[in-house]
Amino acid sequence: MVSVDEAWAKIQAMARPLSIRRRRLEEAVGCVLAEHVRAPIDLPPFDNSAMDGYALRAPDTQPACAEQPVKLTIAGEVAAGGWQETPVVPGTAVKIMTGAAVPSGADAVLMLEDGRLRNGCVEIRSPVSSGQHIRRQGEDVRRGDVLLEPGRRLNAQRLGLLANSGIVEVPVFRRVQVGLLATGSELTPPGTSLAPGRIYDSNRIVLQTLLLNPGGRCEDLGIVADDPNAIAERIRRGLSADVLLISGGVSVGAHDHVKRVLSELGMTTVFWRVAMKPGKPLLCGRLGDHWVFGLPGNPISCVVGFLVFIEPLIRRLEGEHDAQPRSARALLKKGVSKKDARRHFLTAHVAPAADGRLEAAPTEKQGSAMMQALAQANAFVVIPEDRQQIPAGEEVDVLRFSD
Ligand code: AMP
Ligand code: MG
Repeated sequence: MVSVDEAWAKIQAMARPLSIRRRRLEEAVGCVLAEHVRAPIDLPPFDNSAMDGYALRAPDTQPACAEQPVKLTIAGEVAAGGWQETPVVPGTAVKIMTGAAVPSGADAVLMLEDGRLRNGCVEIRSPVSSGQHIRRQGEDVRRGDVLLEPGRRLNAQRLGLLANSGIVEVPVFRRVQVGLLATGSELTPPGTSLAPGRIYDSNRIVLQTLLLNPGGRCEDLGIVADDPNAIAERIRRGLSADVLLISGGVSVGAHDHVKRVLSELGMTTVFWRVAMKPGKPLLCGRLGDHWVFGLPGNPISCVVGFLVFIEPLIRRLEGEHDAQPRSARALLKKGVSKKDARRHFLTAHVAPAADGRLEAAPTEKQGSAMMQALAQANAFVVIPEDRQQIPAGEEVDVLRFSD
């Protein structure tokens, strides 16, 4: 048996990002950038107006006051997308729209509502300062600067930066393919009537939904009975995946065949059995380049195993080099205790208190098969190995999953 930290250290030591390929931005959504991307152009690419108004020469307006407005002759108009070649000369101004290039000669923009248009002139009642309402070329990004570092997942904000820089394609890490198999002769898919002694399978939908978060692609390999030949056949089919998740049948019962079947298929064990509760009979192995996990069938154990090991592994395989389990700190609302030296994970609901700090309320019922408690939870409270009791009000680690 290994500790949670030893098990995670073994995974970290082996996890290498998948191959790199160039992808168009539309196909790179959610992928992790594999190399530095440098700015091919300045942003903005030219000086432009931040307002609808008048482009002018600030020194012309210095004598302006309410009693003696300065009058500048309107010498043209430039809209967004337009370009005025002729410079703005002293004594003149040009009507300008937001985003339009500021013509040469002009060094400031007066807001439309601050000037009065009369007889082909704009009247200005107070001095305008140089640079006002002009977005300078390169003030956002300088050509040649690093736009984005590798290891960043391409979210809406980062894709916006790339697109605005005119970039079409970026080098990204390949997304992870996950195969999902539920084993257990008792399992029945919802939609079929429940024979005596059988239960409905929930681990597949739970894992499929949790997988939406790291975002890898998931192939559902269905349900298979506790039969070694059937399990072996289904695992072989699942080996196109980078990560194969198998729930159930990985403990020490007479019908727990998963570990032996995997060994016969050539798996090398990374670890088996982790000092945690729930989730002890967790198996991690390698089959060639593939990762295989045997997750305990108990639904809560399955979720804990996924959040502690599999989700951060997937994020590392996809190129997030420092991915860790999603933990946070929260104040415990109710004292908790345990008797053994394993790390415990208690279903809990975490929410901000009135002062903004997170509070964690363990669910009333605890147990590796308490489905309603799981449904009430959005996190696990972690009781470390070396603690037997934690009183209410103490700050603890929580492992979060989405609401
Ligand atoms: P096992 O890991 O096969 O020993 O299963 C442990 C417990 O989890 C048993 O009570 C199983 O019936 C239950 N279980 C196994 N697989 C699933 C599943 N896919 N959905 C819900 N419960 C399951
Ligand atoms: Mg079983």
